[in-house]
Amino acid sequence: MAKIQMTTPIVEMDGDEMTRILWKKIKEILILPYVDLKTEYYDLGLVHRDETADTVTVESALATKKYGVAVKCATITPNVQRMSEYNLHEMWKSPNGTIRRILDGTVFRAPIVCKGIRSYVPTWTKPIVLARHAYGDVYAAVDHAAGEGEKVFLVTEDKEGREISRQLVHDFNGTSGVVQGMHNCDGSVRSFAHSCFRYALEQGLPVMFATKDTISKVYDGRFKAIFNEVYEEYRARFEEKGLWYLYTLIDDAVARIVRSEGGILWACKNYDGDVMSDMVATAYGSLGMMTSVLVSPDGKYEYEAAHGTVTRHYYKYLKGEETSTNSVATIFAWTGALRKRGELDGNEALAAFAGKLEAATVATIEEGEMTGDLIPLFCREGIVPKKLNSEEFLYAIAKRL
Ligand code: NAP
Ligand code: MG
Repeated sequence: MAKIQMTTPIVEMDGDEMTRILWKKIKEILILPYVDLKTEYYDLGLVHRDETADTVTVESALATKKYGVAVKCATITPNVQRMSEYNLHEMWKSPNGTIRRILDGTVFRAPIVCKGIRSYVPTWTKPIVLARHAYGDVYAAVDHAAGEGEKVFLVTEDKEGREISRQLVHDFNGTSGVVQGMHNCDGSVRSFAHSCFRYALEQGLPVMFATKDTISKVYDGRFKAIFNEVYEEYRARFEEKGLWYLYTLIDDAVARIVRSEGGILWACKNYDGDVMSDMVATAYGSLGMMTSVLVSPDGKYEYEAAHGTVTRHYYKYLKGEETSTNSVATIFAWTGALRKRGELDGNEALAAFAGKLEAATVATIEEGEMTGDLIPLFCREGIVPKKLNSEEFLYAIAKRL
């Protein structure tokens, strides 16, 4: 076949360890034979981030603003141990954090669902897409350890420093304790709401959003009011597509999610999203089956796998041992980016290729060929699952593709 042509490049962000190994193989085996791939390549591997004093990360995020679509490999977020392992000049910040700050986006996480891979919640047969509001609340809070006898107030001032309000938070009479001051901004909540409704419309999903506004009347009440207000801009398009939006209390939302069959976008406040995304990811089986996309309010997309660089497998690989690392989420990061590029450029062949690669990947697993992490989860009558190594799995997909 003639290779599928591309007009606009995708921003390609390479990464670290086992996922860097898979990255190269995925391109070689599953993409380059079929697509005349155009990318603007940025090496976010830790060695190159250190060489460039991390400017490469900023440049890759700016390129994403320019081109609109990026695909990212998992990267190491350095800690003390990585400092000596890589002989780093500095403990560079998390690349994902840097990219998110520049794009000001919302992260949507979705599991890849295959027949035979049971969810721990048997009713969840469709994906639950989880959106986390990644700004403010306890993540940007001010803490104070109050001594016995201290009185703590919440005080506000106007621009000239004149006191506007003063509320007693607590009088620590007879006991010491802790206090916390947290905030959020209307603009941030509003752009989160827009990202959620826009993404749900694109994906054809209903939306649920929840807070605890019965207890937190002003704080959570504001989140509720903004979401309800923003939804009115989308209501007609939702109803036209037979979709809906439900606001409810967070405890009711949790109960509804457990009873649901999935197929819903669950918009979460920052802390709820932190906790619930790990719950949802675990319930669907392996981390290797969870994708993630960062969507900016002005419609820029960065696709990646939700998991890290799979360090333990990489050390085995370096010793020459066989690995069976799941590449599905990384493949779906590529297909997400290729499809979006295709849609934006009116390149139907490219978008269709993404669909075919996804179908071939899912079919490989459904027909019983998979990596080791999925073997204990697989259950399909008449099929004994076969464990493939990292590379064999990619060739098994290529055969079907
Ligand atoms: P991890 O790379 O996600 O791996 C944790 C464990 O989960 C693995 O050891 C493996 O379990 C299992 N696993 C994850 N992905 C898998 C896959 N594709 N196939 C098979 N098994 C998989 O998390 P980590 O070990 O905590 O972090 C490693 C590095 O990744 C760190 O340097 C961290 O900074 C970075 N990280 C990056 C990102 C990102 O770039 N978005 C996200 C998270 C972490 P078994 O060992 O039991 O097989
Ligand atoms: Mg978490």
